[in-house]
Amino acid sequence: MTTPSDKTLPARGHGAEDILEALTALRGDDVDWEGGKVWSLVFDAGGEHRRLLERAYTTFFAENALNPTAFPSLRRLENEVVAMTAHLLGGSPRVAGSMTTGGTESILMAVKTAREHARAHRWRLERPQMVLPETAHPAFDKAAHYFGVEAVRVKVGKDYRADVRAMKKAIGRRTILVVGSAPSYPQGVVDPITEIAALAAGRGILCHVDACVGGFMLPFVRALGRRVPPFDFQVPGVTSMSVDLHKYGYTPKGASVVLYRDAALRKHQYFATTDWPGGIYCSPSMTGTRSGGAIAAAWASLQHLGHDGYVGIAREVMDTVDVLRRGIDAIPGLCVLGDPEMSVLAIGSESLDVYEIGDEMTARGWHLDRQQRPASLHLTVNRAHVGGAPRFLEDLRAAAALVVPKPPLDRALEQARDVLLGAAVKVLPARLVTKVTQVAASALGMGDGALPERKAAMYGLMASLPNRGDLRTMVIDAFDRLTRYEASEEISIPHRAEPEPAARPLELVR
Ligand SMILES: *Cc1c(COP(=O)(O)O)cnc(C)c1O
Repeated sequence: MTTPSDKTLPARGHGAEDILEALTALRGDDVDWEGGKVWSLVFDAGGEHRRLLERAYTTFFAENALNPTAFPSLRRLENEVVAMTAHLLGGSPRVAGSMTTGGTESILMAVKTAREHARAHRWRLERPQMVLPETAHPAFDKAAHYFGVEAVRVKVGKDYRADVRAMKKAIGRRTILVVGSAPSYPQGVVDPITEIAALAAGRGILCHVDACVGGFMLPFVRALGRRVPPFDFQVPGVTSMSVDLHKYGYTPKGASVVLYRDAALRKHQYFATTDWPGGIYCSPSMTGTRSGGAIAAAWASLQHLGHDGYVGIAREVMDTVDVLRRGIDAIPGLCVLGDPEMSVLAIGSESLDVYEIGDEMTARGWHLDRQQRPASLHLTVNRAHVGGAPRFLEDLRAAAALVVPKPPLDRALEQARDVLLGAAVKVLPARLVTKVTQVAASALGMGDGALPERKAAMYGLMASLPNRGDLRTMVIDAFDRLTRYEASEEISIPHRAEPEPAARPLELVR
């Protein structure tokens, strides 16, 4: 007999108000995105827009887009969202697509489609490959992992853009797909899509453009008269694109679009089985049940903001980006890496430890992701940050001034150490560091009690692991620990002795 989990369902349910109060209180520990201090994860176009989305979402709260014949409403909403997105990205009326739950699912579907397309057109292709720059999103590695397509990663140039010559060399007989990003997430630069797509077209293979973060921003940045290189279906050879709505489309999470040059290509994405006792089953994407709310809210966002609304937001955001870039470059030791086209930036340094600056910024309430190779801090600037640049720059200047510049010799030694030990541990979010340290400590035979308090000391501990090569295993282990129930973390629900029936008429009077 196994011991059952020590968290039980409440024998009697809690009151609705008590539950909602508990949920609201719980958010107190989260990063404060409404204050504009979070530079990733949340895209917000303001309270008025959010309230429209909430209402649109709840209108289709219960509906399920799994079966388009039961809910013609959702079918029409999805078709309109896909069509508007295709038009925005230079697609002809032949371009076809689907809504998915996010960029990852869109990318998974594009890779799966490429695999099926190759299988349909070539005789028994074994061990298919895709060629992509090292900066392309990890969702491609996930797709490789899931679908048995090998990811061949190619170094990028000094400008952080895909190196087309290196990609050309990497393409071989087994290559079924090449990938470019518009823009890439780490440094926010647009890969040379025209050249990448030409490589693909010349070999009769597919070319995916990952415009997850840029698809709903670059067209509007271009409308402002700023320089945006060709990146969409107007480029010959581009066969599919991924575009997230829940980023710069400012729609609630769970909304992305994957597009194909034509419907024949999209058919490779679909799945159908006709033998199941439960009936004939056909589904376009990874998931079965699909949220009606996310689709309806996405449609509402596009219809409400419209082209002018999105351009207006892009103008405010790009003005903020201009202030940020000038300000960052003016801080001694700091610079923006590369020459990003839109509002995704990385702050790097030749002489300062940007991870230390990151810790100083954390202490000042900012949430910035850490990146590696090269070390940098990441900013995704959106509507929520408009007006906030001066405050950010002031803190960044103060943080950079506190960090002591490293002498050149130390820098060389440090780089060598980073290569040996992997700077990767420094990139982990603080809460994960704690867990990884616990894993590391038990591997070293130390108890939890002996754990260091400071992050820098934790890194030292992890770096001292005799066989710390397997950071991947440790990260998975730490994630596993994070995603288990712990009694010490039980969520408390208030209990009000409620004289409710008596209170109700009073509320009615009010
Ligand atoms: C965000 C992002 C993805 C993944 O999208 P999710 O919605 O997080 O699954 C893929 N590619 C790029 C360039 C992104 O910025």
